[in-house]
Amino acid sequence: MRAGRWTAAAGTMLAAWQGIARAAPQPETKLVVVLAIDQFSAELFQHYRASFTGGLKRLSDGIIFTGYQSHAATETCPGHSTILTGRHPAATGIVANTWFDVKSGSNVYCVAVRGTADADARGPQNLRVSTFGDWLKRAQPQARVVSISGKDRAAIMLGGHKADAVYWSNDGVGFTTSSYAGPATPAVTAPAAAFNKALFARWKAAPPQLWPTQIPASCQALEQPHTFGKLALSGKVPPEASRQVENGDFLHRTDFQDQLRVSPIFDPLTIDFADEAVDRLRLGRGPATDLLAISLSSTDYVGHRYGNGGAEMCVQMAALDQAIGRFFAKFDSLNVPYVVVLTADHGGTDAAERLSEHGVEAHRIDPAAFVKRLNDTLKAELGLNYEPIVGDDPQQLSINVGPDETLRARVRDATLAWLRQQPEVVAAYSSEQTAAAAPPPGKLADRLTVLERFHESYDKERSGDIQVQFSEYASIGMPRAPGDAVAGHGSPWDYDRRVPILFWWSGVTAEDRKEPVETVDIAPTLAVIAHVPTAEVDGKCLETVAGACR
Ligand SMILES: [Zn+2]
Repeated sequence: MRAGRWTAAAGTMLAAWQGIARAAPQPETKLVVVLAIDQFSAELFQHYRASFTGGLKRLSDGIIFTGYQSHAATETCPGHSTILTGRHPAATGIVANTWFDVKSGSNVYCVAVRGTADADARGPQNLRVSTFGDWLKRAQPQARVVSISGKDRAAIMLGGHKADAVYWSNDGVGFTTSSYAGPATPAVTAPAAAFNKALFARWKAAPPQLWPTQIPASCQALEQPHTFGKLALSGKVPPEASRQVENGDFLHRTDFQDQLRVSPIFDPLTIDFADEAVDRLRLGRGPATDLLAISLSSTDYVGHRYGNGGAEMCVQMAALDQAIGRFFAKFDSLNVPYVVVLTADHGGTDAAERLSEHGVEAHRIDPAAFVKRLNDTLKAELGLNYEPIVGDDPQQLSINVGPDETLRARVRDATLAWLRQQPEVVAAYSSEQTAAAAPPPGKLADRLTVLERFHESYDKERSGDIQVQFSEYASIGMPRAPGDAVAGHGSPWDYDRRVPILFWWSGVTAEDRKEPVETVDIAPTLAVIAHVPTAEVDGKCLETVAGACR
């Protein structure tokens, strides 16, 4: 017995030692691949995990964390801004996709560029901190940093300030860049133009099939009709709206471009373009460690258009899995040591109506009607002849009354009092409350109060004046016509914050970790793997992944 116990203990120690020895990626990692899947919630990953056979299966056999985007403003631009900076949006300054600038009385898009007449100018001017790619370039000037996405804001937030090439897709154009996002020299733009030209020529000869006509039985079972808000959808794949867009001179028509983005062939296109960049730039085969960041957008487009609980998302998940699998096959063939991390910019949940069928108490909120009721109340109470509350997002309301501080305070107090009486509102906070609610250092992401989550995405100059938490599983939006969003994200609830964080490299030991980690932990972990110093970060290096943190 005694000897047996000793042996067992020694075996455990040996396993622990081997675990540490095997855990770290190869010291000479030549390529870091960062995949962000837009709106890929931890729940969505777990729901489809058993069905994956391609790239997502491989990543499922690596180190798996349930991660958090810790902040409340769970939108695309803020979420992407945390992944490679190691900072919360309160520090990145990217507090929303679009914020209301009270001084100018206008909306500011997160990657818009001030002081230029070029309407297509896009860049990281609003991003207040540096990224892992910037740290790489500083420490190893020969490192190449490339960022590619379906969306400009995703590519730019991942690329940072010093990228060698930043590409995104523009409707009717294909992959493109802007000189404000990175170099727009012929060496960068010509390959994109050639890729687009070849693609459009191929499609002109044979129109692309946006959705498969044969789908797996598991997806077929989800083909059910629903009425979301005021919009009735058949739930069939291919969706009706995608079927009639490929006639005539369809390639540059907006209806085709729209249906392309909301289809399972859009992410594979982004991956094909990234594949071409890997060859052209010989990524992973230079003297330094290179970074390839890719954000795949269609999971988000499909989630908004059809919800994430139907056949459309089922088909999208299968296509994404296969496309990432083909991409891995490419890296394997290069025979360079590479590390992959996959995460998401935010989570999401299904449309309220379908959640209700599954016994979840969920309601739909018409945001325009909600803000109008608020403004009508304020106008009557305060004797105003204009609408004092502005902003497209009812979760971040801005007060627009000019420089009169007394009036501003009266509007704020009346708004908070009204909000707290509404049955669909769980909590409402002023800027003053939000600014003062910094969580104590080291507090775990799953323990943050809702007010602390708001603090993590609060910026004095850019955030709204009043932060609102609506009821759990509320769908904010009123779909009326085909094309309208039926579901979304953006709340401080955990289903919008929880995202998978998956690490994989050749020889990794599979592990499902239980402790909550954050997307801000990714950049400091990659910095240790690539042997580069970080700038100031909010996150921490993950020992399980890096082996030993500095
Ligand atoms: Zn997003």
